[in-house]
Amino acid sequence: MIILVVNAGSSSLKYQLINMEDESVIAKGNCDRIGIDGHLSHKTASGVKVEKDCDFPTHAEAFSCLVDALTTGEGAVISSMDEISAVGHRVVQGAEVFTKTTLVTDEIIEKIDELRELAPVHNHGHALALWACRKILPNVPQVVVFDTAFHQTIPQKAFMYGFPYEDYEQFHVRKYGFHGTSHRFVTAKLAEIMGKDLKDLKVVSCHLGNGSSITAVQDGKSVDTTMGFTPLDGVLMGTRCGAVDPSAVTYVAGKHGFGVSEMDTYMNKKSGMLGISGKSSDFRDITAAAEAGDKRATLAKDMLVYDIKKDIGAYAAAMNGLDAVIFTGGIGENAPNCREEVCENMEYLGIKIDKAANDFKGELKKISTPDSKVEVWVIPTNEELLIARDTLAMIQK
Ligand code: ADP
Repeated sequence: MIILVVNAGSSSLKYQLINMEDESVIAKGNCDRIGIDGHLSHKTASGVKVEKDCDFPTHAEAFSCLVDALTTGEGAVISSMDEISAVGHRVVQGAEVFTKTTLVTDEIIEKIDELRELAPVHNHGHALALWACRKILPNVPQVVVFDTAFHQTIPQKAFMYGFPYEDYEQFHVRKYGFHGTSHRFVTAKLAEIMGKDLKDLKVVSCHLGNGSSITAVQDGKSVDTTMGFTPLDGVLMGTRCGAVDPSAVTYVAGKHGFGVSEMDTYMNKKSGMLGISGKSSDFRDITAAAEAGDKRATLAKDMLVYDIKKDIGAYAAAMNGLDAVIFTGGIGENAPNCREEVCENMEYLGIKIDKAANDFKGELKKISTPDSKVEVWVIPTNEELLIARDTLAMIQK
């Protein structure tokens, strides 16, 4: 059985074709610059690469191009789209409307689009891709998997903000949390490799990438997470400021003379490790500059490490204990220095890592010592695979 996984943004449409017999990727690619001009990058498992400039006025043309790339020319991997059993779509914001993976109907797409007020950068793009897919492949079932769904188990005391209650009722302002698919994938994998039921584990999952979030998982459920109403909250990120005093936002906006949307861009694109270091948002550059003695790059790295440490401690308190910590995402999987510094001086909590065992990139591996009370694991995430698994389970129902 073959599943197509689609991750659509406002101007791009990333895809992976997955063979569910062995969960291998048959081909993947990206239709980029939708609404601007258009470019396709396509790569097959056998190593064929296709790059071409296209015309993508809307998501519909991009989706047609994706179909062509999979079925025709030198990058073709299937003879027709009839070979695809279903399409699984990543959707960023499901709010309180969607608490689990859902089969797509016209009403569901309309509802996803209505939620765009809560996720202006993402949900409308998802809806456009869903309409395009429905038009071009009318007989193929589509399934939506939400970044927020895993966090719908967070209790109200943890998801509310201290605004008047009516703002929650009328404007739906609350913590939603993101990266749910990743946190769900790695915590399930952890339980599998520890040979335990996830329901019996207290876990802190650290997804550290350009965007980062830390999640507390107890009884197999997300009970708190660092991202909030939007993916801007929580730890310091590549270009996002993370949690700050809300009054600092209005003060800085006033000093710069920024309007609401300019301030939003400032916090999302100009802040974080980029803003602190003045050099780069990329953790590799930050590490290299810090090693060369750059003070502001060192500060950016130290701020990120300190934020993560505090969140692990806070979530151990929230869960009344801790059995395991997971590192995942581009930084979590590939930056031994970040993992080592986060786990330093955490013996009081039962965390002890083996520095030699921690010195690697990109594999599934335990990095805690045999006598560490808390197991610490690096688990590469795979959101596309989880979307494909959910999609398969949904159509088999
Ligand atoms: P996104 O959140 O956009 O999905 P990723 O999960 O790919 O991003 O993470 C990107 C981050 O991972 C960047 O800060 C990058 O520097 C970092 N990263 C990737 N590879 C390495 C590496 N080998 N060493 C250190 N950091 C790395």
